[in-house]
Amino acid sequence: EKSRLYSPKYVKEIIEKYGFRFSKSLGQNFLIDGNVVRNIVKGANITKEDYVLEIGPGIGTLTEELALNAKKVVSVELDNSLLPVLEETLSDYENVEIIHGDILEVDINKLIDEKLGGGPVKVVANLPYYVTTPIIGKLLEENLNMDSITVMIQKEVADRMVAKHGTKTYGALSVFVNFYTDPEIILKVPKTVFMPQPKIDSAVIKLKIKEELPNIDREQFFKVVKAGFSKRRKTILNSLSSYGFDIDKEIIKSSLEKANVKAETRAENISLEDFINISTILPPLNI
Ligand code: SAM
Repeated sequence: EKSRLYSPKYVKEIIEKYGFRFSKSLGQNFLIDGNVVRNIVKGANITKEDYVLEIGPGIGTLTEELALNAKKVVSVELDNSLLPVLEETLSDYENVEIIHGDILEVDINKLIDEKLGGGPVKVVANLPYYVTTPIIGKLLEENLNMDSITVMIQKEVADRMVAKHGTKTYGALSVFVNFYTDPEIILKVPKTVFMPQPKIDSAVIKLKIKEELPNIDREQFFKVVKAGFSKRRKTILNSLSSYGFDIDKEIIKSSLEKANVKAETRAENISLEDFINISTILPPLNI
């Protein structure tokens, strides 16, 4: 029987065979635990009907489990020294396609159209930590035909993504993620399931894409959120009026009133809905 890719012994053998060296700057911490691999794929609800986009296959550990459960997997890997490894480790799976590239540069819309049945796709990954937020930002902002994003990320970032208003961890990232998705932490993961072990704790978060988004000027909305959280200790009136928008403090004050948000509230106590309201009532912001 062929050894499954997550066995630590196999991972060691294959990286030695190819003389592979882990790159810290590419966030290479490979999974070596079968239960975690299976639980990610279960948590993502992958079935034989599903088209899956994976980011960063490494030596193919999670890719293999995805291939066994999905209709098709397209996986984008930046490190070209992993390509010959993946050719060997995934040679048994005809429903896997590896693409060499930087996920931040790839035209994902085109990839979904041409290689993933047009979507909706499920994104599943053990993300490289150094680019977690840019990757999730890109996926959400590009209006891709996606069902969900199930990814391993830093626990601390996952906590911020799921945070509700009125808590210390609630911030611009929470508002951003909750605007587009219903987030849920589905697994907390100890450092010991990776090779090499990272210094930080991890968690698997599932972002279920909302079917309908509020029909608002998103740029305006995210400007308000960014400005609101720019000075955490200030009141919303002061953060918005000192941010450099070319509008009078009085207008900001009356807009907050109209939105039923007290001028002295701090951003961390303002809900997604209230931020949306404020942004639609304010006149167009110029920066
Ligand atoms: N999926 C494998 C696993 O779980 O064992 C590897 C996960 S490792 C945390 C992250 C992977 O993403 C590495 O293989 C790394 O080379 C790759 N990677 C890093 N930056 C990338 C980028 N910008 N685009 C695509 N892949 C990237």
